[in-house]
Amino acid sequence: MTYIPKESRYDEMTYNRCGKWGLKLPAVSLGLWHNFGGIDTLENGRAMLHRAFDLGITHFDLANNYGPPPGSAEENFGRILKQDFKAYRDELIISSKAGYLMWPGPYGEWGSRKYMLASLDQSLKRMGLEYVDIFYSHRPDPDTPLEETMMALDRAVRSGKALYVGLSNYPADMTKKAAEILKELGTPCLIHQPKYSMFERWVEGGLLDVLEEEGIGCIPFSPLAQGLLTGKYLKGIPEGSRATREVFLKKKDVDSAHDKIVTLNEIAQSRGQSLAQMALAWILKDKRITSVLIGASSVNQIDNNVEMLRNRAFSKEELQKIEAVLK
Ligand code: NDP
Repeated sequence: MTYIPKESRYDEMTYNRCGKWGLKLPAVSLGLWHNFGGIDTLENGRAMLHRAFDLGITHFDLANNYGPPPGSAEENFGRILKQDFKAYRDELIISSKAGYLMWPGPYGEWGSRKYMLASLDQSLKRMGLEYVDIFYSHRPDPDTPLEETMMALDRAVRSGKALYVGLSNYPADMTKKAAEILKELGTPCLIHQPKYSMFERWVEGGLLDVLEEEGIGCIPFSPLAQGLLTGKYLKGIPEGSRATREVFLKKKDVDSAHDKIVTLNEIAQSRGQSLAQMALAWILKDKRITSVLIGASSVNQIDNNVEMLRNRAFSKEELQKIEAVLK
């Protein structure tokens, strides 16, 4: 059946500017790291993309290595894009990244110009796109001069294969240097994608200040700590959840977070929302945050998470209670 997006799709979503730039992103964006790979059910991925777009989520985040196997999330996304979203390309912000291991040999990872630009070409081919909206350096490379990686990003834009560039996982000082280089090259940094959640707060120690000074947006990944900050693990580890796979989220992470999750869930309930909703609203309370980049394994999770936008304000007392748990 032909997918026809909801006409009301832009009525409820909030759109925030990326730092000082013109581009706006939805307050909630959807990432395809998990649940869109070759091992996953394509129809579930398709249903999630439909629902997301119907709810005003215009931004889908990918990377060369998302799957498994690596590359398969981009392939699946390309398939769905071609079938269902072709007419809506100009309503979508699609990002990809290069930095982690993608192919064997010395040119298959990190930040050389050789790798970055070859990887972008491969990503475009897999997704069937002429350009991505945002191309990221996925991680800083300790052995390649920052200039080289930034020149590769600049080249991606100048060759028409990306509209904007971003940095991911760069610490504050390196972000500042990279932003200066990009400014000199004439391709300013649009956005930074760091890990940030109630459980992972390193960005508060300098990165957010740099982003504000430089006018760069911020789109935190794993805002739900991969599912820990939801109702999912309150009573053990449910079948099929990410923690059962013991790869990126482990049973020991669930065990050590348990007491905090229980108390945070009580605070969320007293606010009349789910723990996931509170965890997302808590990140968005900082005006420097452009969008929260969630993952999902079902349409219901996307519904539940976007519903958060109706209840985003925190009282001073609620924030203090949350701080006391997180300390
Ligand atoms: P989250 O912290 O949002 O975790 C998503 C997982 O949480 C889901 O897969 C699901 O787990 C669970 N979940 C989500 N909503 C609910 C809900 N309402 N109720 C119950 N459980 C829920 O983000 P991710 O770790 O998935 O990362 C999001 C995106 O960030 C990625 O897709 C990717 O685009 C990006 N990313 C970027 C990185 C980088 O280095 N730049 C690194 C990692 C991610 P389950 O599957 O068990 O149901």
